[in-house]
Amino acid sequence: MSRQTLVGQETIDQQAVPVSSSTFDPDDFNQAVMSTYARFPLALERGYGCRVWDTQGREYLDFVAGIATCTLGHAHPALVAAVTSQIQKLHHVSNLYYIPEQGELAKWIVQHSCADRVFFCNSGAEANEAAIKLARKYAHTVLEIEQPIILTAHASFHGRTLATVTATGQRKYQKNFDPLVPGFHYVPYNDIGAVEAAIGELDEGNYRVAAILLEPLQGEGGIRPGDIAYFQKLRRICNETGVLLIFDEVQVGMGRSGKLWGYEHIGVEPDIFTSAKGLGGGIPIGAMMSKSFCDVFQPGEHASTFGGNPFACAAALTVCQTLEQENLLQNVEARGEQLRVGLEAIAANYPHKIAEVRGWGLINGMELQADIPLTAADVVKAAMDEGLLLVPAGPKVVRFVPPLIVTEAEVDTALQVVEKVIAIT
Ligand SMILES: *Cc1c(COP(=O)(O)O)cnc(C)c1O
Repeated sequence: MSRQTLVGQETIDQQAVPVSSSTFDPDDFNQAVMSTYARFPLALERGYGCRVWDTQGREYLDFVAGIATCTLGHAHPALVAAVTSQIQKLHHVSNLYYIPEQGELAKWIVQHSCADRVFFCNSGAEANEAAIKLARKYAHTVLEIEQPIILTAHASFHGRTLATVTATGQRKYQKNFDPLVPGFHYVPYNDIGAVEAAIGELDEGNYRVAAILLEPLQGEGGIRPGDIAYFQKLRRICNETGVLLIFDEVQVGMGRSGKLWGYEHIGVEPDIFTSAKGLGGGIPIGAMMSKSFCDVFQPGEHASTFGGNPFACAAALTVCQTLEQENLLQNVEARGEQLRVGLEAIAANYPHKIAEVRGWGLINGMELQADIPLTAADVVKAAMDEGLLLVPAGPKVVRFVPPLIVTEAEVDTALQVVEKVIAIT
């Protein structure tokens, strides 16, 4: 395969990038690394745009993007320049001091969202932990609830720390880790009656519902978009009862949905929301945003050593500015539409295999029929053999989350591979 690759308008000579001389040995890797992940037999070494290359030099079209994370794809010149110059200047200090880049990034987020204030951390789970702590403090000090309960949804995903895995409404992630954190209760997603019933039933003695934590579109749970009427009624209930509405925007936020924030699709503003994955374009950073009325943290009550350091903030600020400068939201809408139309055409050709195609912008799922043995993992493996990287979202949904810079030609290529793979699997 030629290593001359056309990416966007630029032609780069991949020959100039050295290929690893050592052969990669998975057995050696597994000796030293804990087996927390069931990995595909593929070791990636470099990338450019929406393409990545493995240790043998084989090229793949990347529709995973580090799981909805590499917003600007790989080796984007703006991100490379930003992190290079920032590490030469100052990469980490401490929140003992003012960090100008952190202030700049917070200002950008505040100007481009419904939030008034931002707390920075390093991951999605950590951002959700911060949101849970803020909601609990608000419940204790403002709502005067002794035993606050947070409602979350079945099939949700909020992270792997003990509190966020408890918040995650999927037993498979919690098994073997009991006892879980108290104070969570689960309701079916997109079901307003269940929320009303839970609020009524759970308000007893010192116990009361203090917050509702939801994804505007459920990611890991199978790419399930939130229902507009449901969320609007939820907002009304929260206004009437004082219950906080918290959105987990870790996967759907930062432009992936075609709008900057997923909540813009459902016409409802949260009181608190979280971001991570796409925020730093692959440099680890998380953030928890709140309106000023529920920003009740005092100095010393929450912290993170790495949170909001100059390096991560310079990277995220560049991702934010590049989203604007390159009109990426427009690209997300157009490429997302192209992808969904293409997938729906494939689904129409193979109705016995594909049940549904759904999503927003560049976060889309193709659900396989329940009554056939074909799994999302089977499709992902077959696509990998054809040079396309995909990721499952649950056992029956194939997820498409390419970098937001993906081109029309790259979406066409991905669709051709998917058509072929669905035909042969
Ligand atoms: C990935 C994800 C998380 C967890 O983020 P980490 O950075 O892995 O801790 C939380 N919520 C949602 C919706 C996610 O998709």
